Amino acid sequence: MALWYDEVFDDSMRLGLKVERTLFMGHSEFQRVAVVETTLLGKALLLDDLWMTAEKDEKSYHEMIVHPAMTTAPKIERVLIIGGGDGGTAREVLRYADVEHVDLVEIDEMVVKACQEHLPEIGSAWDDERLNVVIGDGIEWAKRTDLEPYDVIIIDGSDPVGPAEGLFDRAFYEGCANLLSDDGVFVTQSESPLIFRDVHIDMVRVMKDVFDQVHPYYGSVMIYAGGPWSWTYASKGVSPKEIIDERVGFIQEQTEIYNRDVHLGAFAVPNHIRREL
Ligand code: SAM
Repeated sequence: MALWYDEVFDDSMRLGLKVERTLFMGHSEFQRVAVVETTLLGKALLLDDLWMTAEKDEKSYHEMIVHPAMTTAPKIERVLIIGGGDGGTAREVLRYADVEHVDLVEIDEMVVKACQEHLPEIGSAWDDERLNVVIGDGIEWAKRTDLEPYDVIIIDGSDPVGPAEGLFDRAFYEGCANLLSDDGVFVTQSESPLIFRDVHIDMVRVMKDVFDQVHPYYGSVMIYAGGPWSWTYASKGVSPKEIIDERVGFIQEQTEIYNRDVHLGAFAVPNHIRREL
């Protein structure tokens, strides 16, 4: 018998999907991990009862967190992903032949294992030999001083509670800025501009203290609170408007959502946010 799974926000709104069966349910040191089969969006990952990603919706998130950075960073040889345990962000990064090495630092091994087993269509690049999966805390990784600089850093973490809380701190952004090459690009998921408006605005403000260029950008992700979602692009000087023609031409042949026009339009900031920044 089909059931409904509801994600509840602030005891005032809920987002439910009809679920045919539960494929995995476990409790890690960090969170409750579940993979379920939904009738509308295929198989989906939930962490602590919050929808994280779903097969038929994930491209609207993973393409948008990855390609604006990858089509504008002058170099893309070394990439760091923090979080991203479902493998979707790594899959999009590894589409580029110029990528030589990717460190993916995910805190929860249970997420990686459950996604490898039950969501292989999302994480279809786990076997790529350029990918180095580290099970560890991205906040600690960002404090390291012994690493070669990264050309692109992508923060594909969860909401600011539990292990992800520190991914929203100034100290974390400063650590990432230290790990970034001088012409590198940093991008983070930056929450809903509606439901989590204050978190979104605070993040962008703090990042402006750390990076020279900081540009929030927007898109829609059906399974996230209310639909609209944001990511924020930051660098020490690279502009998200200077798209590298050859790279965008190559990637937009493969993507479902992302293309040059979507890229440029995504950086339009709504007035109610712009006035706060
Ligand atoms: N990519 C998905 C999507 O479509 O939204 C959801 C992101 S989910 C995979 C975020 C991941 O960040 C979770 O697997 C979580 O375990 C991980 N995470 C949270 N805090 C972390 C930390 N401090 N270091 C590394 N990974 C972390």
